Formats: sequence, structure tokens, C-alpha cells
Amino acid sequence: MKIIDVVSEVFEWERPGIWNGGHFYGPGRLHKVTVKTDEGIEGYGWNGGTAAERPLAIFPPFVEYFRELLIGRDPMDTRAIAHDLGEKHIKILGPGGVNTQVLAAINIACWDIKGKSLGRSVHDLLGGVQNRIRTYIAGGYYAEGKGLEELQEEVLFNVNEMHAGAVKIKIGDPNQGVAGDMKRVEAARKAVGDDVVLMVDANCALDLGTSLEFSEELQKFGVYWFEEPMPIHRYKEHGTLKAASDVKIATGENGYHLSHFETLMDHNGADILNVDVTICPGYDIAKDITDLALERGVSVAPHGCQELQLPLAAAIPHGEFLEYYPVAVDPLRADMFMPRMVPDDDGYVTVPDRPGIGFELNMEVLNKYKVG
Ligand SMILES: [Mg+2]
Repeated sequence: MKIIDVVSEVFEWERPGIWNGGHFYGPGRLHKVTVKTDEGIEGYGWNGGTAAERPLAIFPPFVEYFRELLIGRDPMDTRAIAHDLGEKHIKILGPGGVNTQVLAAINIACWDIKGKSLGRSVHDLLGGVQNRIRTYIAGGYYAEGKGLEELQEEVLFNVNEMHAGAVKIKIGDPNQGVAGDMKRVEAARKAVGDDVVLMVDANCALDLGTSLEFSEELQKFGVYWFEEPMPIHRYKEHGTLKAASDVKIATGENGYHLSHFETLMDHNGADILNVDVTICPGYDIAKDITDLALERGVSVAPHGCQELQLPLAAAIPHGEFLEYYPVAVDPLRADMFMPRMVPDDDGYVTVPDRPGIGFELNMEVLNKYKVG
């Protein structure tokens, strides 16, 4: 089988603004990559579809650049393609960033082709260890007019209506300070009760001193994990924090390479890796990262678009949680993906056995928002 074309499309739509410790998110955006083959099979990969907003208009030129290198290649050679367009291009494109995010979408599209061609799910091809995986609901963002009461309503909705056994809220907005954020944590804990798993996420907003201060406070409310306390390359500081913290340290959603995760684990800097298959360059590299995590006794809870993370998260024995973005973070989520992923009554999702990724983009909906 040979690749005959690679197509890039960008979509953008309005939605209410939200923010975390370090970033404000306005419009919803999605970048789609279609890989076409001489056998008529098409594969799809994408970036976006979560709360985060990226400058996706600069993604298509990278697809243009990669297209020349992809035409004529066998899409089944996902690992070789990831290497040739990734590692081998560090001198030209840099070690990671938009180039590797685009490469992720290409790699995912090739895996989609591989699955469809073999009549197997990507989940199965990656190991297929778990048929169901526990989700946690991402949320608790800061928003205009959102106080403690609204935060409590949100997490309660997630528990009662979405069957969540675990919920996450944001901390780290400099306007809140430790005291302000701890009021939010206390409010969330009161709302959901003691039996629901509660996580917090600072999106790299803090320094070591403040992270240590937070970890002391967070354990009083039985917080399960403290995510992305500090900027990702503060390896030594992650080690110091993890050694001092009774709350587990989770990080990794912004890690581009196996070597980043290796260095993090060499410093004993995390209990849980939030590897994201759309940030590191796709399933091959992500699987290398999760293999290394297994060796080191570190569990995995992927970050990002759940439709793309599920095949890997549930493929491995140490896939502990799947992050689940509800419609609340983006109303278009209700219709953007086919079929819609809905947690079962116990907060787990069941992995589909459809060939390929198992989810596709709903182009009838998205085409209304095409901007490039
Ligand atoms: Mg996060």
C-alpha cells in the first residue's frame, strides 16, 4: 500500500472563554489530517477537540512540508515514518512543537489506515489489555462569573449526571493564590463527598516553593493527584516535590519525546504520566513512553482528546485513568465525534472494537466551521 496524498483542514468555532493557571482559551479549534492511499483506504488524525486552543492556522504549512516526504511511502510503516519525519528532522525543524504535533496527526492517520486495512482496532494492535478503562472528568476551569457555588454545581453534575467516580479542577491562577485555590478545592471536596476521587491541575503555573505549599494543603482534602505543578523541564524540582508530597504527582501532557519522559523518571519526578498521543509524535512514540513507564513502575493517564487517547490508555496494563472532556468545556463536543463516547454507569468507558481508531470526525457538523 502507498500514500498518494495528505490533506490538511482547519476548523474554528465560537464558545465561552475559560482559563487555567497559565492559559486563556477562546474559540474551539481542530486541525484534521487525512492520509489517502492507492488502495482507497483513508486514515484520519487530528489535533484539538479539547478545552485547549492552539494557533492551528500555522499547522497546514507543516503538513505541506511533510507531504513530499510521505507520498509513495507505505502507511503501515508508522514507526519508520515517525522516525524519519521526527528524530531525523530535529536539525531542520527543532526537537518538538508544531512539527511534532502535526506528525502526531499524520502518525494517528497511518495507524487508522493500518487498523482498517487489517480489520483490527488500534487498541487491539497496541496490546488491547483492558476492555474498559476508568475515566475522570476534566473541568473546574476558571471562567467569568464562576464562583465556588458554580464550581460545586459543575463537579456535582459530573458525578450525578455523568457517573464520574473521579473529577479534576484547576488551580494555579495567580489571582487566587494558595488560599483562594484551596477554598475551591475544599468546596469541590464538600460537593462530591469523600468517595469521589479528586484531582487538581496547575498547568505548569507554579514554582517549587508554592508547589510544596500546595501539596501540604491538598493532602488535607484527600486529593489524589497534583498535575503539572511546574514547568515541564524542571526535572530536579519534580523529584524534590514528589519526594516531599503525600499527594501523587502527575505530569507529561506537554512532553514531546521519549527522552523527556526518561529524564523525568530518572529524576523520580512523577507517579503518573499524562502522555498525549497528539503532542508526542503519535502512537509509536507514546507506546515507547508507556513501555518505559511500565518498567519504572509509573502508571499512565493520558491527556487530551479522549477519542484518540483511549486506544492506547486501555491497551496497556498500567493505563490507570482516561481523561474525559465533557460537553461543558466545548458544546460542539456533543456532535463533533462519531459515535459519541459516553461513560458507562460506573464511570468507565468500554473500548469499541471497530477497525482503526474507532471514532471519526462528524464532517457534517465540522464543515460548517471550516476556516482553512
Ligand atoms: Mg492538564
